[in-house]
Amino acid sequence: MTRIDDLPIRDELRGMSPYGAPQLDVPVRLNTNENPHPLPEPLVARIAERVAEAARHLNRYPDRDAVELRTRLAEYLTRTGGHKVARENIWAANGSNEVIQQLLQTFGGPGRTAIGFEPSYSMHALISRGTGTGWLSGPRRDDFTIDVETAERAIAEHRPDVVFVCSPNNPTGTAVDAETVLRLYDAAQAAKPSMVVVDEAYGEFSHRPSLLPLIEGRPNLVVSRTMSKAFGAAGLRLGYLAADPAVVDAVQLVRLPYHLSSVTQATALAALEYTDTLLGYVEQLKAERDRLVAELRAMGCEVTASDANFVQFGVFEDAHAAWQAILDRGVLVRDNGVPGRLRVTAGTREENDAFLDAVRTVMKENR
Ligand SMILES: *Cc1c(COP(=O)(O)O)cnc(C)c1O
Repeated sequence: MTRIDDLPIRDELRGMSPYGAPQLDVPVRLNTNENPHPLPEPLVARIAERVAEAARHLNRYPDRDAVELRTRLAEYLTRTGGHKVARENIWAANGSNEVIQQLLQTFGGPGRTAIGFEPSYSMHALISRGTGTGWLSGPRRDDFTIDVETAERAIAEHRPDVVFVCSPNNPTGTAVDAETVLRLYDAAQAAKPSMVVVDEAYGEFSHRPSLLPLIEGRPNLVVSRTMSKAFGAAGLRLGYLAADPAVVDAVQLVRLPYHLSSVTQATALAALEYTDTLLGYVEQLKAERDRLVAELRAMGCEVTASDANFVQFGVFEDAHAAWQAILDRGVLVRDNGVPGRLRVTAGTREENDAFLDAVRTVMKENR
């Protein structure tokens, strides 16, 4: 049997593992930070309508610049992000993973480096490597917050071309304040200058306001967002960024022509018509998230304060064994490899109850 390593693949890909959250068929799946609410039926009907209209023109390439979609996304961010942006500030792609890939193709690449403060979103490192960008793992404190002085020193020493700040951070749930981002931005400009990418995939779930206003007067700062989490549309694959218009112009150099299909654009536009309904689900999920934090703490778990739609909890002597024990009770959570900790996504009330029951049993048996 031919194995990957028998193929003439790039040296830096040898020995790497692909992104691989298990997709297991169990009753309660709380492992990939998806929104548990299916889209409401009226929205499903509206999507069908808009996609049918798009289908009438599928003989033609889509709007390469996604003008209508970017206009609607700019309106959404202006309304919810605390800062006025226009279509020229917005770029969209197939998930924020593609946005991040385009940013790394533009500002990273061979001979360049990117830094993130780990544990953080594993795709930042994986997409860096995939684009030939060297990856630097910066540290966090024991409480999973970013130690600004240490981070500033790492930036000054390594002079990375791209600095990732994930807020709220996956998998820990911790948010970063504007002050911290500004200090990292200043450090990054003094060292190189370099791009600072604020990944706000969970922005809508945060107790804190969006970091979007920080793009004002800072052309090297990018905020990335997604419809995968708050909009309950992980299957849609739609992510976007907000930045200085020059950044939007720059990523045009690497984006594939017509990367965003007409069907994707039509579906995203339909979903944006239902913003208020979907943000209503976000409020419910925030309440469930807070309930998970409180109940896990009441059980004696150590829980990291969360600004996202998931909660990091522990401490387990053997996190993987605890993961398996919870799975044996029909609940799939995530083992992100953070020592002693697991991550659970806030689901529906019933799913969360099933999860809490499972953890309660596992905690008892391990005492
Ligand atoms: C889920 C997630 C994304 C979203 O990726 P999509 O490609 O938009 O689905 C981006 N960043 C972080 C930190 C995430 O957890």
